[in-house]
Amino acid sequence: NSLTKTFHSLRPPVRLPPEDTPLSATEYAFSLRANSPWPDSVAVINSLTGQRIFYSDFIRKTNSLSAYLQKVIKLSQNDVAFVLSPNSVQVPILYLSLLSLGVVVSPVNPVSTESEISSLIQLSKPVIAFATSSTVHKLPRLKYQTVLIDSPEFNSVMTSSKHQLDPVRVSQSDLAAIMYSSGTTGKVKGVMLTHRNLIAQVAIACGSRPQRESPAVMLFTMPYFHMYGFYYCLRSVALSEVAVVMERSELKKMLRAVEEFRVTQAALTPPLVVAAISKDGLTEGYDLSSLEGVVCGAAPLGKDSIVAFMAMFPKVVFAQAYGLTESTAGLSRMEGQEESKHWGSSGRLSWGLEAKIVDPETGDALPPRKHGELWIRGPIVMKGYIGDVKATGETLLKDGWMRTGDLCYIDEDGFVFVVDRLKELIKFKGFQVAPAELEQLLLSHPEIADAAVVPYPDEEAGEVPMAFVVRQLQSKSKSKSRLIKEAEIMDFVAKRVSPYKKIRRVEFVNSIPKSPAGKILRKDLIKIALPSRL
Ligand code: AMP
Repeated sequence: NSLTKTFHSLRPPVRLPPEDTPLSATEYAFSLRANSPWPDSVAVINSLTGQRIFYSDFIRKTNSLSAYLQKVIKLSQNDVAFVLSPNSVQVPILYLSLLSLGVVVSPVNPVSTESEISSLIQLSKPVIAFATSSTVHKLPRLKYQTVLIDSPEFNSVMTSSKHQLDPVRVSQSDLAAIMYSSGTTGKVKGVMLTHRNLIAQVAIACGSRPQRESPAVMLFTMPYFHMYGFYYCLRSVALSEVAVVMERSELKKMLRAVEEFRVTQAALTPPLVVAAISKDGLTEGYDLSSLEGVVCGAAPLGKDSIVAFMAMFPKVVFAQAYGLTESTAGLSRMEGQEESKHWGSSGRLSWGLEAKIVDPETGDALPPRKHGELWIRGPIVMKGYIGDVKATGETLLKDGWMRTGDLCYIDEDGFVFVVDRLKELIKFKGFQVAPAELEQLLLSHPEIADAAVVPYPDEEAGEVPMAFVVRQLQSKSKSKSRLIKEAEIMDFVAKRVSPYKKIRRVEFVNSIPKSPAGKILRKDLIKIALPSRL
């Protein structure tokens, strides 16, 4: 119906456990695993060493760790645990164990700097941190000791049966995770997700999976600290998948892992897909015949890349997925080879979701094919931003609708197309960079009078942060004739932020265009940077 104003998911129904049953995301994933047709298959493989952990052992380790954390460390429900670790086979065990205790997991990118970490800690207020020998030096002192998850002691805790776990009643409405996202505007905030959010997302994934003869083998290139990887770790247990864990997403290592472990599914970000198709001959010489499906998300991927990928791997089902940290990862995706051909689309809305396309000027809900901001409603929508009533109120609206900050349209067949971003976010290789954070840093420099940061398109990374800078002409510290240079600005920022947030382009301007209310007019700056977009 061309007059439709609310779009409903067209996916087949999924059964969710009753909302008032006490159930942690771990219990839910383990209960689905218990119904698996494979009594004891491999749960995780370390792609570097080939070390394997079977499900029986994986579950035992999770329970031993839970008992230790409860009895020895004395962690209790609603405590927050900070996790600062690269991908490893220990991470999913740690997450599932913390979730089973009702402890709130807050994972962070291990490349974060000390000052970034301390500002995240102020948001989530953890009592304990789990780190590795390579990340521990960046952590401040917390109430409980820091636990090193790559230590022999941690390994022995996971294998010991010394402690008995007291039962814990976790409500589905309890907080499960605090993830980090800048949302539609401003600085990074703590996204509150509940066990119910995770359970719904896992149920949706399981509902759409066809029966298999043997377990799917999933290549884990996406980081466990990102929403995408966090939720996949529960999903792969629920589906009894074999998770091949990679510490870093390097294309050659990935190709080798696909061959060695007979990987059937890979979840990728656009830079990896682009690299796989653009570097001539790079995939040659590898046996990739086991690969059945690839899902790509976290940032847009153009039609040309998808067409090239499908031509190169005709037997692989390609699916684009789209989601936000605030929607517990994916809110739409493609299913099956036919849907892959809806070029440029990010698939159809997940089960349980409703959507509206809202005119940003008038607030009216628009019919199919009209461009506007996507609003969604359903069981995967976050609870809010921790300690930030204002930002929560601006994002979560009345009647359960959530603004995505993305400019989208939905066609008559229910396919979602992400056209542009209305929000301030920059995405470098799928990672979030908040312009407000970089702007504040730039403004702290004595030779910078004003600054604004916008996304600049980049073939490899998708987007890179670009700064517009107004120089402080009468610097007190330096002579009047001196003008700060581009390289000095880049260097100043690079020393203070995670590598993926670095400013990679600078343009000097006389003033930053602003609205009468003082809001930076970012679209005007993007037009200066990219006159062809005018
Ligand atoms: P994050 O919370 O880090 O997952 O970032 C969410 C944002 O990434 C979304 O609001 C979009 O702007 C962008 N994004 C994620 N997936 C896609 C996609 N498939 N196509 C276009 N943009 C995407």
